[in-house]
Amino acid sequence: MDLGITGKTALVCASSKGLGRACAMSLAREGVAVTIVARTPGPLEATAEDIRAATGAPVQTVAADITTEDGRSAALAALPDPDILINNAGGPPPGDFRDWDRDDWIAALDANMLSPIFLIKATVDGMIERRFGRVVNITSSAVKAPIEILGLSNGARAGLTGFIAGLARKTVRQNVTINNLLPGAFDTDRFHANVEAGAKRAGRPAADMLAERMATAPAGRIGDPAEFGDACAYLCSAQAAYITGQNLLIDGGAYPGTF
Ligand code: NAP
Repeated sequence: MDLGITGKTALVCASSKGLGRACAMSLAREGVAVTIVARTPGPLEATAEDIRAATGAPVQTVAADITTEDGRSAALAALPDPDILINNAGGPPPGDFRDWDRDDWIAALDANMLSPIFLIKATVDGMIERRFGRVVNITSSAVKAPIEILGLSNGARAGLTGFIAGLARKTVRQNVTINNLLPGAFDTDRFHANVEAGAKRAGRPAADMLAERMATAPAGRIGDPAEFGDACAYLCSAQAAYITGQNLLIDGGAYPGTF
């Protein structure tokens, strides 16, 4: 299926590794010129080279912290009018809400609620004028089923989800869609770091805990980031113009509800 986005441009945030990288790779495969952003220059440049080699698509890099105003300005200076915006950032740390002060909450809100909102604010009117735009926010399965130790994520991402639900109905008439992708467990550095942290707390080997988790998962495995990237590319396609304001869970059936 030709997704009809060859020649479009995309700003893909937090994308030297993991799910963001997979989204950039899938979009580049469709002929989209991607601008990728991460804080650490080495892995960022390596990923840019990998995407160019695999797809032949143009790739530019911006080494910046997307959760800061300066970082967002640098990303938007490199690509002021993206056709496609993929919002992503590192997730907040796990813990107990009794230990979090105002600064912890503000950091979570900056990363997982306000950064996406400010990037949408900076780009959505251009998309509306050009009568094409696709925004995908990488959130979390925690939006649908809260994860006890990730209270900062549960709260901040719920705020973004509520905001998007309203805005997504205001832009679709001009062919600008806004959707959220909710990852369950995916094979990324962050996922493995969380497993390690959980194993340490439980005093058990991480490999055992991972094996147990896979055994009880409906799919019998964790997700491949490439599966996530391809779903993202589809939501950015010309064909997906009638899909907006949705929260698409990609978790191999782990969420047990009917809806
Ligand atoms: P990952 O493998 O750790 O990759 C994170 C990427 O984001 C890296 O390229 C990192 O590069 C970049 N990044 C992090 N903070 C950034 C910042 N402030 N500014 C710019 N770039 C930044 O993580 P992931 O597993 O792909 O997770 C992506 C998002 O999905 C996170 O919010 C995570 O909580 C959420 N999520 C993941 C899973 C999962 O199973 N993997 C499940 C649910 C939700 P630098 O460190 O160099 O900046």
